[in-house]
Amino acid sequence: MSIVAEKVVKTYGQQQALNGVSFEIGRGQIVGFLGPNGAGKSTMMKIITCYIPPTSGKVNVCGFDVMSQSTEAKRCIGYLPEHNPLYTDMYVREYLSFVGGMYNIPNVKSRVEEMIETVGLQSEAHKKIETLSKGYRQRIGLAQALIHDPQVLILDEPTSGLDPNQLVEIRNLIVAVGKTKTVMLSTHIMQEVEAMCDKAFIIDRGNIVANDLDIKELAKEGKRLEEIFKDATKKVASGE
Ligand code: ADP
Ligand code: MG
Repeated sequence: MSIVAEKVVKTYGQQQALNGVSFEIGRGQIVGFLGPNGAGKSTMMKIITCYIPPTSGKVNVCGFDVMSQSTEAKRCIGYLPEHNPLYTDMYVREYLSFVGGMYNIPNVKSRVEEMIETVGLQSEAHKKIETLSKGYRQRIGLAQALIHDPQVLILDEPTSGLDPNQLVEIRNLIVAVGKTKTVMLSTHIMQEVEAMCDKAFIIDRGNIVANDLDIKELAKEGKRLEEIFKDATKKVASGE
């Protein structure tokens, strides 16, 4: 297993963001983490990537506990946070070299060039980040997540705010890099999960309400994710 979450609880003061979330993600899968706004997706991703600790429960990534072995865990995780925070006054190469330096990558220069090619940034690589479109900024976000060649990629709403062409390009890129990695991506767009993912989980108000949905099986059975989403989130709302 690449990611194992066991009964993860997170409270922010009075606000319960995760109510005992458990799931497993197998190696090499592209998994959609679906849920409405405020469901707890970003919180779960911040815990997986060692940015915040859980209030209770356990998360294991590539065999490493995110609390007691966070250095080892971080080494096998690439993370594209929500809203893709970048140092916009840096140049593309400068920024990627900076990130590569933080990971202590040998031959940073050639690795940066490799990443620029992988994510299709060649035409923009000499520019300042602030001059780039949102689609190209997402490519930089993906490049920084990939630079240390992690086994697991955590992408928090990677396609939000993109125009239709950028959307298709970033989706294709995620599917391409996902061929050799485990990818967990959050979204509230069902079609996106149907287009890109092998599996899906649905979270609502801090609870997993649909676990380990197999996207191909659903398609074979003629079931739409949208219907499952509506049903699953209804149950929690009525307290059943
Ligand atoms: P999602 O990413 O699914 O939209 P989040 O994980 O961002 O959901 O948020 C889950 C819940 O936790 C929401 O009710 C949100 O308001 C709350 N929350 C998130 N971050 C904080 C924080 N730093 N302090 C207080 N409440 C927070
Ligand atoms: Mg979020």
